[in-house]
This record gives sequence, C-alpha cells and structure tokens, in this order.
Amino acid sequence: MIPYGRQDIRQQDLDAVIEVLKSDFITQGPVVPQFEDALAEKSGAAHAVAMNSATSALHVAVVALGLGQGDLMWTTPITFVASANCGRYVGADVDFVDIDPDTFNMCPRALATKLAQAEAAGRLPKVIVPVHMCGQSAAMCEIAELVRPYGIRIVEDASHAVGGRYRDQPVGSCQYSDITIFSFHPVKIITTAEGGMALTNDAELAARMELLRSHGITRDPTRMTQDSDGPWYYQQVELGWNYRMTEIQAALGLSQQLRLADYVEARNALANRYDRLLADLPLDLPGRLEATRSAFHLYVIRLHDASRRREVFETLRANGIGVNLHYIPVHLQPYYRDLGFAEGDFPAAEDYYSRAISIPLFAQLSEVEQDEVVARILEALQ
Ligand SMILES: *Cc1c(COP(=O)(O)O)cnc(C)c1O
Repeated sequence: MIPYGRQDIRQQDLDAVIEVLKSDFITQGPVVPQFEDALAEKSGAAHAVAMNSATSALHVAVVALGLGQGDLMWTTPITFVASANCGRYVGADVDFVDIDPDTFNMCPRALATKLAQAEAAGRLPKVIVPVHMCGQSAAMCEIAELVRPYGIRIVEDASHAVGGRYRDQPVGSCQYSDITIFSFHPVKIITTAEGGMALTNDAELAARMELLRSHGITRDPTRMTQDSDGPWYYQQVELGWNYRMTEIQAALGLSQQLRLADYVEARNALANRYDRLLADLPLDLPGRLEATRSAFHLYVIRLHDASRRREVFETLRANGIGVNLHYIPVHLQPYYRDLGFAEGDFPAAEDYYSRAISIPLFAQLSEVEQDEVVARILEALQ
C-alpha cells in the first residue's frame, strides 16, 4: 500500500533523540527552547511556544486571547475537528464560514456576508480561526482586512502549512494574525511524533501561553502576586494544563526542521507533477492562490461525478493506493449536529466533501510510486 502520507526519519534524527535520552533532561531542558527558536526564526515570528500537540496549542491560544463562556468563535467546516473544538473547550459557541470551492479555504466573500449579518444581529465572533487547508495559506490579507475593524482576534491554524509562504512572508510570521499554530503529527510536514507550536509577535501573549501550557505556574517574580517565600518558591497565578513538549520530541523536531525547505520543495515538485499527469481526467485539481507557496501537506482531487466517489475510493484502496478523505465537514459530525448544525448549512463545503479524495503525497514519494498512483486513478475512473 502506498500511504497518503508518511514521516521521514533519518539517522541524524535517531542520533539527536538518543543524545537527549542519555542527557540529564528528557523534559524541561534546553532543547525545547532551541526548537522554538529555530521555528520562530524560520517563520519570522518573534516568539514560539512548543506544546504536546497542535490541539493543545489551539486551546491555549484561544484562552490567551480571552475567549470564554458565551463568546462566539468562527472557523471553516473543511478542517480537522480540533480547529473547532478549541472554542468548545472554553465554553464558546462555534460557527463556520463556508469555503472557497477553488482553494478549500475560508472564503472571504462568505466571511464578508456573514460578518454583515452578525453585526446586524449584534453577535460578532471574538476569535476567528482560518485554516491553511492542504498547506496553502488562506487569503489572510483579505480576512484580516474584514475582521480587524471589529476587533476580532485571529488564530491561523497552520497545522498543514509549516514551511509554506504567503505574500513573500513565511507562514507563521503572524503578519495577518495574533497567533499561528503548527502541528508536528507524523503525517504533517515535519514531525515530533506528537507536538505543536504557537507563534506570535506579542510578548504578552507568548508569556501567557507559556504559563498556560504548564499549570499556570510561574517562577518569574514579576508575574507573582506577592513576594517570594524563598528560592524554592513558585506561584500558580491562573488555571493551566500540562501541555509541555518533551526534550525527546523537541530533539526530533530540531533535527527534522533542518530539512523543512527540502521537504516543501519535494512536495511542490510532486504536486506540480500530479497537476500535469492528471490534467486531462474528469477531475478538479487543487486551485492555487496567487503569491502563495503551499507546503502541500495534502493533494486533494475532486471527481466531476460525485456519484462515483465511493466506488473510485474503494477501487483505489483495493489496488494498493492508500487514499484518504480530508475532511468530513465538521458541522456534520454528530457532536456538532447535536448543537444544531445540519446538511445544507455550508453548501460549498458539502459539495467538496461529496467529491474529494486525498491521494498519496509525502516528501519521499518516488516518481515510480507516483506513476503507479496515477495509473490506478486512470484505471479507477474508466
Ligand atoms: C493535525 C491537525 C490538527 C491537530 O494537530 P495535533 O498536533 O494532532 O493535535 C489541528 N488542525 C488541523 C487543520 C490539523 O490538520
């Protein structure tokens, strides 16, 4: 089976992990800050806060931005459930903005319409979470222009987009957002097995997220509410969690990120090759946003004929092609249906879902394997 995604672990990664295992610190040591510095530097953000997953990072990000009970958060329906769930963790109501059918990302026109309605109804969101679906940045400039006049805060879910670029800036620079989130799950661009990171240019937000990832505890006297009792002293100043990344994970990530540019280059070359090889088939291929370089976490094809999707998907799986589907629209998950969402709420997302298939794409996919994927797709479509 050719999988849809696969991590690339090399000898230097193993060496880095073993070195940490033999050292004095396997958690809360020097490597996590080194990994944070490396990614802050690569993405052009001033601060980076590593966590044990992107899901944790999303949670901490919305708490740091003050999202809470009764507030409203918007995201896109075509994403992993974690992009929406972070709002629910803090008791906020979650709603969705439909996608642009060409890029699969939050649609600025749909956002403009929804904002006008929300303003009229006196119920604007406090936080919006655009997602860089498949690794291609959402139209952040347009989105920021639309929401900033209302004081709405922006968290970019860039779980797919580590190493991507948007308008001559690396994704993660937070030029159009308050916080950007990366994931290092093994199917993503670089991995720490489990892991995530929050990037920001706001020192206060960074300090708050550092506090929240570790129980709300500080050893910094300037953050304490009273004088220290002695050198052992620490204070819990708010309610946080244990969302820390281990040194073992950070060592893997620090080693992996050295190859980030190569990975993104390889993924783009393969995606361009798919564009050529699949051009004449009854498929819609991924649209490209101007002045944007996708990290190409995923390559999604959409069948012209939705009625054949299930059969084509099953045929490909049966023939050794590890296709997948990203994503079932979040609003159609039973948990969200129970909150009142239903079929028909987000037509572009639902049309996408009815026709989409993610085909294999990862940095080490060979051209021979890719030709095999294309041959099997041709066969399945006949
Ligand atoms: C993978 C993913 C997440 C969650 O990442 P974890 O690191 O597994 O918690 C969140 N959002 C999106 C869009 C993802 O693809």
